[in-house]
Amino acid sequence: MDEFVKLLDPALNYVGHKVEEQKCVIIVESNRKEATCPYCGITASRIHSVYKKEFHDLPIQDIQVAILINNRKLFCMNPECSHKTFSERFAFIAYKARKTERLIKAILTLSSRVSSVAASTMLKNNTAPVSKSTICRMLKKKTSTY
Ligand SMILES: [Zn+2]
Repeated sequence: MDEFVKLLDPALNYVGHKVEEQKCVIIVESNRKEATCPYCGITASRIHSVYKKEFHDLPIQDIQVAILINNRKLFCMNPECSHKTFSERFAFIAYKARKTERLIKAILTLSSRVSSVAASTMLKNNTAPVSKSTICRMLKKKTSTY
């Protein structure tokens, strides 16, 4: 499992997992000694608190996967910084997003081939709970970004 988790980001360690009715929840935590403050770019290592954050990722063997991260909040020690604390960020997921970038990519690839209604039905079975309107929103966002 640790290898699966490292494919998402080498900075993650596998902590445990639980299989629920519809999905597998993989619990992970960061193994970085330091994190970079997104507001000023200075590295920080003093931990303020840890909170749980859950998001969806690509399925494993047709089973939905949710990742539960013990996300760290750190103190930014830069007196010039606009923020006293910040949450550790990762490249595989946008801040406050509920799906990983690679899952979004998979949803968009499918949605470009079939209708958003069909895509939603196909995805709900074993990939991730995603509604037709969410797909439409994602497609719209993609067109405006690229
Ligand atoms: Zn800062």
